[in-house]
Amino acid sequence: MENNTEKVQCLIIGSGPAGYSAAIYAARANLKPVLYQGIQPGGQLTITTEVENYPGYPDGISGPEMMIQFEKQATRMGADIRYGLATKVDFMEPPFKVWIDEEKLILADTVIVSTGASAKWLGLESEQRLNGYGVSACAVCDGFFFKGKEVAIVGGGDTAAEEALYLSKLCSKVHMLVRSDKMRASKIMQDRVLKAPNIKVYWNSSTDEVLGENKVEAVRIKNHLTNELLEIPVSAFFVAIGHQPNSEIFKGWLDMDESGYITTIPGTSRTNIEGVFAAGDIQDKHYRQAVTAAGSGCMAALDAEKYLMLQGEL
Ligand code: NDP
Repeated sequence: MENNTEKVQCLIIGSGPAGYSAAIYAARANLKPVLYQGIQPGGQLTITTEVENYPGYPDGISGPEMMIQFEKQATRMGADIRYGLATKVDFMEPPFKVWIDEEKLILADTVIVSTGASAKWLGLESEQRLNGYGVSACAVCDGFFFKGKEVAIVGGGDTAAEEALYLSKLCSKVHMLVRSDKMRASKIMQDRVLKAPNIKVYWNSSTDEVLGENKVEAVRIKNHLTNELLEIPVSAFFVAIGHQPNSEIFKGWLDMDESGYITTIPGTSRTNIEGVFAAGDIQDKHYRQAVTAAGSGCMAALDAEKYLMLQGEL
């Protein structure tokens, strides 16, 4: 075997609650799991604020802290947690081939895919150009830089609502742009947003352009009903319009729905390829919670263990 090729029993790709939970279960079942963390170690929870709905934390816990604890627990159980991004796969037959950072090749008896989902962007030229100069998809990461300033946020889901509320505690005013006449966010979050004295909601409004040369200076919005354009001076522009699954490298191998979410056999973590399992947001566009992701990570590890046992590998 070449130097940069390694054989493992159980490979886990991705380090959110699904990946770490799979690692904890797989390690305790003695599958000697190797987990590659991907581009965002800890996953989406590392860019969130307080998590109040994960059982076992009666006082809540910050997302990044929770993921540090998940990682510690997986490591303590014996999982091998590594930096590195899976860049290509070949699932023709076991052992399955997965390339890490385009150079190292892992041969795995079984693979658990838990690569999650990433933030979506509007697709405006100005949004790209000013990314990092006032444009951000993470209020929790970047809101602090705009303390006491006026900012805008686009989106009407729970993420947008949560981030708008977070920003309202730091910034003097939050301009929230909702493209229709209603928000998709849960009732309780909508109520909180509408009650916040320094959040102004603009209904039926889309972003026409983010303005500014080297940093965000304003946002120009358009009202769909009146076609009226309005320029709002802001120092930052936050995008919170949902997510897309990180499934690009699995295209052609794993069955997916029209949005790119991996399809699993209901009630299991099994994909169309025997020996390859999927867990967490990569296969769940509906619930998308830390606790459901963790639960599906557990399912994937148990399914992988059973698969290896039937193959006579355990
Ligand atoms: P959602 O898909 O729920 O919402 C996306 C929002 O962005 C919608 O309001 C949508 O508008 C809007 N949008 C989409 N594309 C554009 C665009 N091009 N321009 C303007 N607006 C756009 O994503 P979220 O990330 O908010 O939430 C994902 C899931 O995670 C949900 O199930 C949510 O409940 C959950 N979540 C739960 C939390 C919690 O429980 N604490 C916290 C955060 C998220 P439209 O409605 O018109 O399509």
